[in-house]
Amino acid sequence: MSRRTISILGATGSIGTSTLDLVERNSDLHEVVALTANSDVAGLADAARRTGARFAAIGDAALGDALAEALSGSGIACGAGEGALVDAAAMDADWTMASIVGIAGLAPTMAAIRRGRTVALANKESLVSAGPVMLAATRESGARLLPVDSEHNAIFQCFDHEDPSRVSKIILTASGGPFRTMSLADMARVTPAQAVRHPNWSMGAKISVDSATLMNKGLELIEAHHLFPVGADRFEILVHPQSVIHSMVEYIDGSVLAQLGTPDMRTPIGHTLAWPARMETPSPRLDLAAIARLDFEAPDPVRFPALDLAREALEAGGARPAILNAANEVAVAAFLAGRIGFLDIAFIVGKVLDRYDPPAPLAIEDVFAIDSGSRATAWQMMEALAA
Ligand code: NAD
Ligand code: MG
Repeated sequence: MSRRTISILGATGSIGTSTLDLVERNSDLHEVVALTANSDVAGLADAARRTGARFAAIGDAALGDALAEALSGSGIACGAGEGALVDAAAMDADWTMASIVGIAGLAPTMAAIRRGRTVALANKESLVSAGPVMLAATRESGARLLPVDSEHNAIFQCFDHEDPSRVSKIILTASGGPFRTMSLADMARVTPAQAVRHPNWSMGAKISVDSATLMNKGLELIEAHHLFPVGADRFEILVHPQSVIHSMVEYIDGSVLAQLGTPDMRTPIGHTLAWPARMETPSPRLDLAAIARLDFEAPDPVRFPALDLAREALEAGGARPAILNAANEVAVAAFLAGRIGFLDIAFIVGKVLDRYDPPAPLAIEDVFAIDSGSRATAWQMMEALAA
């Protein structure tokens, strides 16, 4: 049997290394075409050598020589800069993991989609920002998008793809993050170190902060709307602190289907890697007797205003989701750099949405322009806040 060709965009991150783990455990089944990273030359070169990748691309153009040096004698071709990331994504591969964080993943993810074939999508920010444009490109190329995000992967597994009209509601579960029970006054003082310490999942810094503000759930609401178009009013967000149920689908007859598992991303990644078959993964198994109970509560819109901001952006559509995402990326980076407080993140996102109102994007270039405009507005808001 011929091996499947695969590429991993964002190979050095949390999702990327979990994907590499599964690929390397099954190296007889997979042949690695291209790997990318932003600045971790050593991690990228090491993964490329281990897997015998054909091409490695580093996003930071200044690191091209260092990557070439690290790969010398290996026969692995390499490139640097944003163009090289797109080149890597455009190489023919049966399966591509899109796991770059943020809008930086949009151009490479679009290149992978335009090639047709299967794209496992972790890079939610690109779908949130470019939604209809990205879905049109997917239809045009015949690519198949498989959701990696644990909630969307759960919904995918429970969803009636044949007749979505039988679905009455989709329930997106949320852990509630590290500040689920904290008072607003205490939340005003939390540090980046506290915000990235997620109670259940180990993830990159940006998504960890998003999980703490619940903006992650807001982005996931928009992501789910694009992947499972049952109507914006049919999505409910439910806080479930144990992160055992990854999401649920309710049917018109009252049945509710759920997908459960331990919080290990190798389960949803493995699902997309083997789909439509199944593969073994090393994820710990669920021990429900040890967990003993599953709790649920409604999210608190007062302490977590990001949820309403995201729902408004979803309902208004047009440029709003891209503005929400870009302003959030800027604010999260500023929070991680110690420039603004935790509660300022959603405050700034709200202000940018109030101030900036460009027309709906019709093409990918429009999405990039909205992203830049939103970032500039977010910087102005932060300067005003600091003054
Ligand atoms: P991470 O920070 O651990 O890794 C990000 C990857 O993207 C790295 O390989 C990095 O080199 C690359 N990257 C970062 N900035 C880049 C840039 N400017 N240009 C090119 N490459 C760049 O992040 P992560 O936690 O692995 O998350 C990746 C994506 O998956 C995010 O969109 C996140 O929302 C999504 N996701 C992650 C998890 C998780 O458990 N980690 C779960 C669901 C969804
Ligand atoms: Mg998720």
